[in-house]
Amino acid sequence: MNGEQIFNSIINIKNIINHHKDEIEKLDQEIGDGDHIFNILRGLEELLNLKNELFEKSVDHIFKQLGIKVMTTVGGSSGALFATLLIGMSKKYNPELSDLNNLSQMFFEGVESMKKRGKSDIGEKTMLDVLIPVSNTLNQLKNETDKAKVVKTINAVAAEGMMSTKDIIATKGRASFLGDRAKGHIDPGARSSQLAIEAICNQFIDN
Ligand code: ADP
Ligand code: MG
Repeated sequence: MNGEQIFNSIINIKNIINHHKDEIEKLDQEIGDGDHIFNILRGLEELLNLKNELFEKSVDHIFKQLGIKVMTTVGGSSGALFATLLIGMSKKYNPELSDLNNLSQMFFEGVESMKKRGKSDIGEKTMLDVLIPVSNTLNQLKNETDKAKVVKTINAVAAEGMMSTKDIIATKGRASFLGDRAKGHIDPGARSSQLAIEAICNQFIDN
């Protein structure tokens, strides 16, 4: 893992999110306040602005700086939560480990920090319905040598988690004000998180 790869994955995430811009905007208009797509794209743009300054630095330093940038520039619940994810991830980087081992450890720590920050867990109709199962599965697959298997499994778990938000009520975030009316709508943060994971998986298989 290096700075070049980290910034390439941010570009890939931005491309896939941009491609689904209208869909994500609509999801947050249905059960939130409609700003989720704007928050995400703004954050990704801010991160890409740091490329020249950071790409040759150490992985832990890069993740920490990315987290601080999101924390200070992106609004909404998702800004604070994604900042917490990145800063949590920065704490567990170990240059001795393989990329998959590192990703697994870093992601686990990041997601645990998010759960604490958002006082939330699986089944509350949030992005955590994607991120928690992905983190658990990544942990189970951390020593798997078949990359295609890892990517296929992670993508399937992320898609299943995203879809699981559709028919439940929200107990966290703005959608929780809607009660039963939130049913039938996919959570916008779950959809953007699932797409970001798809982008990272596509890149992982290419490396
Ligand atoms: P806001 O809700 O403040 O307008 P965004 O629209 O950017 O912020 O993000 C909304 C997303 O944030 C939701 O779709 C949900 O996935 C996620 N979210 C909201 N509150 C929480 C929480 N407490 N824990 C985890 N995720 C949350
Ligand atoms: Mg919103």
